[in-house]
Amino acid sequence: VSTETKGRKCDGKRGYSTREIALAVVKRLVEQGAARGALRAYACEFCGCHHVGHRPGRRKP
Ligand SMILES: [Zn+2]
Repeated sequence: VSTETKGRKCDGKRGYSTREIALAVVKRLVEQGAARGALRAYACEFCGCHHVGHRPGRRKP
């Protein structure tokens, strides 16, 4: 059991091995109704994978 809870790690996040896969996931989520501008695929500095996350800075109504 890790006691390292500081910092922003990606525990629990689904990681994708390539950017193409992550982008494909974004595309699928958009097709399922997600807002295109609210999602992003990004390379993770912690695990080296790519994650799909919500773009910050947009307030929910
Ligand atoms: Zn990660």
